[in-house]
Amino acid sequence: MIDVKKIRKDFPILNRKVNGNSLIYFDNAATSQTPKIVIDAIVDYYSNYNANIHRGVHTLSQEATDDYEQARLKIQKHFNAKKAHEIILTSGTTHGINLVATGFTSLLKKGDEIIVSALEHHSNIVPWQMLCERTGAILKVIPISLKGELIFEEYEKLLSEKTKIVFVGHVSNALGTINPIKKIIKKAHNVGAAILIDGAQATPHIKPDMQELDCDFYVCSAHKICGPTGVGMLYGKEEWLYKLPPYQGGGEMISEVTFEKTTYADLPHKFEAGTPNIAGVIAFGVALDYMNEIGFDNIASYENELLDYATKKLLEIDGLKIYGTSAKKTAVISFNIEEIHPYDIGTIIDKLGIAVRTGHHCAQPIMDFYNIPGTIRASFTFYNTKEEIDIFVNAVIRAKNMLL
Ligand SMILES: *Cc1c(COP(=O)(O)O)cnc(C)c1O
Repeated sequence: MIDVKKIRKDFPILNRKVNGNSLIYFDNAATSQTPKIVIDAIVDYYSNYNANIHRGVHTLSQEATDDYEQARLKIQKHFNAKKAHEIILTSGTTHGINLVATGFTSLLKKGDEIIVSALEHHSNIVPWQMLCERTGAILKVIPISLKGELIFEEYEKLLSEKTKIVFVGHVSNALGTINPIKKIIKKAHNVGAAILIDGAQATPHIKPDMQELDCDFYVCSAHKICGPTGVGMLYGKEEWLYKLPPYQGGGEMISEVTFEKTTYADLPHKFEAGTPNIAGVIAFGVALDYMNEIGFDNIASYENELLDYATKKLLEIDGLKIYGTSAKKTAVISFNIEEIHPYDIGTIIDKLGIAVRTGHHCAQPIMDFYNIPGTIRASFTFYNTKEEIDIFVNAVIRAKNMLL
């Protein structure tokens, strides 16, 4: 059970006013708000033990190193990775994807195939297109149905011994569809392909188990899971992390350097060049602790309640159409009302203190598929309430009446 009144007290930002109204924050799929305990961890680091890690013998450096490595262990435990050095700390999902896509340059040849899904975020499409340009590999796309689900039979048809890597989001950011990734992973492995899962939208709602899923790579961002911006995780199976070359050269990632030859540090440091976001990583660990204390089962069932409630209320509005109607979706509602431009509704309801996302949600191919310029996307999380949804629905009705 979620004690939402109590939870809301953990988030200082929820007290603020926007244009004279209490903030209603329904843009959680873009970034989540930050609980005080996470903010405090960042303040504590800079106030008490700010130092560079893994190098100094002095007390501050040791304290910072301990907390940084402790955070890696928390992340390992949360995702049930077999080994701590399979957790690479990154600046976020985008960084993790680029690290893998760049690493594959030396593993691909002309005519090899890469499969991505039509549900992907731009940050998931572009690095693979760039990889194709570098290697002569061919990009294949799994199409979606009108409900916004991947068409599994089409995916099976695309797979062959030419497929070298498959890239699929766990959950779609534009529509909220939860993909059947366990089945998708198994099929990829059947043809000997590697598979990378983008967990940016799934990790705020689901606790994925790396060993059970058996994926080769999994990426996410802390800022969508109550953590700070600019930090994230790449999980990679040990065998794959050994196979991939380092992504960036710099401090921390080397073992020995001479002008003749440099040897690389062991995992995970091989992929962590330069001074990382130390406070951010520590705060990421605290955010996971915070979420686990509430419990992901509790979070999912409460969010489903909000999703059902909001879907029902919104569909009572004449002319309102929801995009993405899979039975398996997270608490994301993408919609339009008749021909009204999403931006116009977004602007009016912002005046009433309500934050939603309008536009193509970095997923232009999905918008093209539905032949629309974009949608209004409301995304809910465990600190939102039904009362907020009521206010939001009334605001949408008001905007509609002004614009039509
Ligand atoms: C947010 C998001 C990203 C990008 O995350 P960054 O933190 O900006 O790197 C990638 N994929 C999906 C599905 C997302 O929702």
